[in-house]
Amino acid sequence: MRLANKTALITGGNSGIGLATAKLFVAEGAKVTVTGRNRDTLEEAARELGPNALAVVADATDIAATEAAIKKAAEKFGKLDIVFANAGIPGDTPLGATSLEAFEKVLRTNITSVFFTVQSALPYLNDNASIILNGSVISVLGNPGYSAYAASKAGVRAMARVMASELSPRGIRVNVVAPGGARTPIWNGRAPTADAFAVLEKRISMTTPLGRMADADHIAKTVLFLASDDAAHVQSAEIFVDGGATGSPAGAPIFRG
Ligand code: NDP
Repeated sequence: MRLANKTALITGGNSGIGLATAKLFVAEGAKVTVTGRNRDTLEEAARELGPNALAVVADATDIAATEAAIKKAAEKFGKLDIVFANAGIPGDTPLGATSLEAFEKVLRTNITSVFFTVQSALPYLNDNASIILNGSVISVLGNPGYSAYAASKAGVRAMARVMASELSPRGIRVNVVAPGGARTPIWNGRAPTADAFAVLEKRISMTTPLGRMADADHIAKTVLFLASDDAAHVQSAEIFVDGGATGSPAGAPIFRG
């Protein structure tokens, strides 16, 4: 068991990558608190995760709610060894058709909340803890329509490096996992039907050297590595889990003759 006697907090742990990570953490011996806004999916997650998990309703954009959730986690399972700041939203913000409200909602959720999750967790974090922030390939790809999301995820990378500097004196590691397109409910808005999703999956697969979308588990396993003592000397790194989409795009199926 790679996380025996460890305690973890996962924001957005009731869906997709966060839920897959919570399951893996519990299987590896951790005690895990998951947060999210949706009470129903949180209850479902709690049932699935079993007695070594706690589910707490907490909107990550609400600092007081975040602090209260972290306090509850620490009261139930003890101080935290792992924080996975994973909660995030997509959101179209194309030039020419974007309101200030829509733009700021993405930034507030995907970056401001990440900062305050980490800040709120600090008093409850053990020395030598591991913090993992969820980034994205969109932070480097320049995909149209994604200005706010791309900025938020590039900001996550920049912020992780600052946090790593500030927290190294306590031995706390801060790293980023940067997923490529992964099969999770995050795409429900953009591809609401099976046909629309098939088109999306084909497009992502064609531009990914390994020729597929990720499963949430691909990302969860990398988060497990960063959370565990196996990554004891990994500090301020960003690991792209994207089938080569950012590192070797010329190898994608779309370019094969
Ligand atoms: P999901 O939509 O399945 O999960 C998103 C999670 O974030 C949900 O649990 C949701 O819970 C939670 N969440 C969203 N807003 C808030 C909020 N204000 N407060 C608390 N929780 C919130 O998507 P993924 O699992 O795919 O996404 C997880 C992370 O991975 C995100 O940061 C995303 O940007 C990133 N990512 C995903 C990729 C993909 O292709 N899937 C690619 C690159 C990065 P609830 O609705 O209950 O609040």
